[in-house]
Amino acid sequence: MTEMTISKTITLANGVEMPRIGYGVFRMKEHDVCVQGVTEALKAGYRAIDTAAIYQNEEAVGEAIKASGIAREELFITTKVWNADQGYDNTLKAFEQSLQKLGLDYVDLYLTHWPKPQLVDTYKAIERLYEEKLIRVPGVSNHHEHHLQQIFAEANILPMVNQIECHPSLSQDALRAFCAEHNIAVTAWAPLGTGIVFTHPVIKQLAEKYSKTPAQIVLRWHLEIGNIVIPKSITPERIVENLAIFDFTLQADEVAAISALNTFHRTGSDPDNFNF
Ligand code: NAP
Repeated sequence: MTEMTISKTITLANGVEMPRIGYGVFRMKEHDVCVQGVTEALKAGYRAIDTAAIYQNEEAVGEAIKASGIAREELFITTKVWNADQGYDNTLKAFEQSLQKLGLDYVDLYLTHWPKPQLVDTYKAIERLYEEKLIRVPGVSNHHEHHLQQIFAEANILPMVNQIECHPSLSQDALRAFCAEHNIAVTAWAPLGTGIVFTHPVIKQLAEKYSKTPAQIVLRWHLEIGNIVIPKSITPERIVENLAIFDFTLQADEVAAISALNTFHRTGSDPDNFNF
């Protein structure tokens, strides 16, 4: 049944509260653009930022955080270890560098960016960072069920978040169900999908019905199916628009109609065929 109201945070497996919406900063390599975007997002009310070592903007994210004057404990900062830095020792080193670039003394969520053959060793390092309280939540990204199974066989502390591509054209029903079964929260990357979905009659009609934009309908659908979302925008109006998704509710049949748009279409790579 559709939830009548949706809380602005989700309680993770270890009790940490993670914001249901964060600000993604992929493709914001230019320092000033990223500082400006994060500054706008924090001003608009976002408290979670999703970056990664490979985005080459951890310094800019750190600069905007510092300038905002917002208390560290009010923020939820995610970053990710890049593929070239995987393995136990390399991950610990990569984390140290990310921390330094961000200008922080801990990050909230640290993720393996993509599953590589060393994914278990990489996760073991993330587990150690968690035990040393340098991260508040251990997690992974782009992990299929079989990757998670490898971690389950070796880890003491299971990943608490899996960040995966998810949008109406790739609803990820099976993987989301598997994650739910193991108390792993799902964050949707590319939550807005290709944009093709914005012109689909199902989305357009709902946008008219609720006086919302197609992007807001899609983001609300994510919340209704249990996802955390991290939309990216460098457009100030869209940054504000994407946050205004907590004041209306989609009905169960409307959620189902959006889920039925699934065509298994990926905008990015399949984690099983990713050779970076
Ligand atoms: P996205 O957030 O779904 O879409 C971003 C695109 O949508 C931008 O072109 C943006 O344009 C546009 N947009 C944003 N809000 C809009 C609105 N209200 N109406 C119309 N268009 C709108 O895709 P994404 O950036 O690929 O993914 C989001 C975040 O997920 C990334 O920033 C990153 O943090 C994370 N991510 C993670 C992985 C991973 O492997 N873990 C991979 C990809 C992304 P403007 O900027 O021009 O406004």
